[in-house]
Amino acid sequence: MATTSCDVAIVGAGLGGCFLALLLRRRGQRVVVIEQGPSIPSAGADFLKPPGLRVLARHGLAELVERHGLRRDLIRYYHDGEPIRECRFPDGGFLIRPYRELVELIYACCAMEGVEFCFDAAIERVEREGDRIELLTLSDGSRLRADVVVGADGTKSAIRRALDIDQVAMPYDRLLMRVATVPLSASVAQLNRLYFSSGGWLAYLYPLDRDQARVFVGLPPEQDDAVFGGGGASLVDLLRGFVSDSTDAFGSLPAAAWHPIKVSSLRVGAYHKGNAALLGSAAFACHPMTGMGMSYTLYDAEILADVISAAGGDQALLDKLLQARYEPRRQAHRQLIDYGDALATTFHDRRAYLRAFRADLHIYGDEAAPRTTPALQPI
Ligand SMILES: Cc1cc2nc3c(=O)[nH]c(=O)nc-3n(C[C@H](O)[C@H](O)[C@H](O)COP(=O)(O)OP(=O)(O)OC[C@H]3O[C@@H](n4cnc5c(N)ncnc54)[C@H](O)[C@@H]3O)c2cc1C
Repeated sequence: MATTSCDVAIVGAGLGGCFLALLLRRRGQRVVVIEQGPSIPSAGADFLKPPGLRVLARHGLAELVERHGLRRDLIRYYHDGEPIRECRFPDGGFLIRPYRELVELIYACCAMEGVEFCFDAAIERVEREGDRIELLTLSDGSRLRADVVVGADGTKSAIRRALDIDQVAMPYDRLLMRVATVPLSASVAQLNRLYFSSGGWLAYLYPLDRDQARVFVGLPPEQDDAVFGGGGASLVDLLRGFVSDSTDAFGSLPAAAWHPIKVSSLRVGAYHKGNAALLGSAAFACHPMTGMGMSYTLYDAEILADVISAAGGDQALLDKLLQARYEPRRQAHRQLIDYGDALATTFHDRRAYLRAFRADLHIYGDEAAPRTTPALQPI
């Protein structure tokens, strides 16, 4: 099989991989994206918070992603059925847009600009010389040589493994999550509501578009079989104990298809080695309760695009720039992962959760928040 060459090989066509590919292509780099799936990934996030929206706006993509998205600016929190606080997002709030739709838009821009995609093409072998990745062999036998390799290939990253970078994954195994898509009801159309119970359950209901809603249920793992495994416990009866203002959604829940979701945090020992770097979930993962994973990933892709273009194929310069500009992102990610841990371990305890909640991180992430950032608002 032939060996092809490019400036940058990006492994993984999720949000991180596609956005980085677009930025690099716009700077004249020849980019190849290798994706093991038949198309871009479908599962993932729904909320794009203000920092991520600002990144997209800097690259002329804000109008495109917002065209069919839904803007919201308020989340109301409940504990044991009682409304406890609200978080209001200033300046138009955040965007709800299913992950696949969002990535598809970026992918379409990539295709227009001439990024090359190889689908159904997992990484079979990674050949290194010292710290440098010399050659990638794909599952169809074809080979790719690139000046720079980016592992945007998710939490189980093959590139991270090939670079021998340590990782620590911590499953949130005290909270089993399930998600379903159901018809939109009036209460869900009105407001995003996040319910917690002192028994260790949570339920989050929000609109996806004008017709559909997403419902997340989190529960202690020992109760999953009884509720979702045919054990006879009624989901609606259990939700009734702490979900107070969204009861008009209950009718659609028993017949819904409930998909389990595995959620873990991930910390890794380094973000780059030789001519390779890690991006997005290959580099870090935090609890989805922060709602910030995509925003940080988009910002990281901006930094990587700057660094890779500035290095212009000079390995020593690339190493220096990655160390100076990209490696420090680990500190921001560490703070976000710790924050996700704090939310995930306190939500059953109202006081502890309110103490752990940080409106600045929730709204602005690691951007400098204005000095007057509101705390959670009383209702
Ligand atoms: C349940 C859940 C809810 C979330 N909600 C939010 C939210 O509301 N807001 C938010 O900002 N963030 C949220 N996040 C985080 C967000 O989904 C991630 O930050 C984001 O998806 C990271 O994008 P990515 O491109 O790194 O990874 P991914 O989207 O995981 O893409 C990785 C890609 O790499 C491919 N791949 C893997 N291995 C290989 C290989 N060997 N060869 C080729 N391709 C490979 C995969 O098929 C996949 O397409 C959530 C995460 C979860 C789990």
